[in-house]
Amino acid sequence: MSARYAVFGNPISHSRSPAIHAAFAAQTGEDIVYTAILAPLDGFATSVHDFIAAGGRGANVTVPFKEEAFRLAGRLTQRAELAGAVNTLIFVAPDPAAAGTPALITGDNTDGAGLLRDLEHNLGCRVAGRRVLLLGAGGAARGALGPLLAAGPAQVFIANRTAEKAAALASQFARQFASSRQAADASAQRGAAPASPAIAGGAFADLAGQSFDLVINATAASLKGEVPPLPAGVHAPGSLAYDMMYSPDGDTPFLAAARAAGAARCADGLGMLVEQAAEAFFVWRGVRPDSSAVLAALRAATHAATQD
Ligand code: NDP
Repeated sequence: MSARYAVFGNPISHSRSPAIHAAFAAQTGEDIVYTAILAPLDGFATSVHDFIAAGGRGANVTVPFKEEAFRLAGRLTQRAELAGAVNTLIFVAPDPAAAGTPALITGDNTDGAGLLRDLEHNLGCRVAGRRVLLLGAGGAARGALGPLLAAGPAQVFIANRTAEKAAALASQFARQFASSRQAADASAQRGAAPASPAIAGGAFADLAGQSFDLVINATAASLKGEVPPLPAGVHAPGSLAYDMMYSPDGDTPFLAAARAAGAARCADGLGMLVEQAAEAFFVWRGVRPDSSAVLAALRAATHAATQD
């Protein structure tokens, strides 16, 4: 029987995850069925448990349940713990011989890994040594920060409409990153930890006079057709502007504004969507799909749909 997976969200009908995972399965020969499940806003945990009881082996989680999935998981991967949000669940059903034992639910977060893979592999934008501006301090920004910092940027500035949230996130990640680097170095017996990238956070206005090689929009502003108010000069010559939101033609209000403000290259978040799915597929099945081929097909299909 096919192994069952699903994506839980509300709303969910727009989700591209079933098509992406169907393409991965066809490509790799893995025998899976992947569906979209609309969970009631007050019934996420019940929906997940029903799915496990029906044989579900794993799930993706999207808006607005990522924090609830974090709380539901009995175990968390290190990257989920750092992110404070879960977008991938792995289920181990209870042993039928041990009646009454609960299913084991592990929570993971593949969003940041997906972003990094899209930046570095698909777009050829290396983060090491670069000045990075991350806009937003919500779940997507939290998920991105661990992998971004691990990639070795020279500097990361987090700017958010609510400046206190950005400052708090910057201090938290500076502490966590420093202690995880020290632990890694101690276990490798390499002596003192190397210098951490400079991490700071604040308001959009604090960006005046600064410029960045990579500007990532992790705010939900584009969803409302709005653009974070950035001072002139934020996009350095040759810089890449990246919007986690995606659109059929690959353009968003943020990217249009970034282009007008001097960004040399622009990319939307479709690649991140496919790459976070590929990482989840790998976690579940132990097989890494050829995500570039699926991304190209998805981009062509969405673009063609807008021409109808
Ligand atoms: P959250 O609701 O957790 O956070 C929203 C963030 O956006 C907050 O920092 C909020 O600021 C800010 N914000 C909201 N509206 C505005 C506005 N009008 N102007 C400026 N800032 C604003 O959302 P998520 O972090 O989960 O998602 C953010 C974006 O990332 C969404 O567009 C989502 O679709 C995208 N995403 C894409 C993924 C992909 O695979 N491509 C994966 C995950 C997310 P404040 O704190 O002040 O409220």
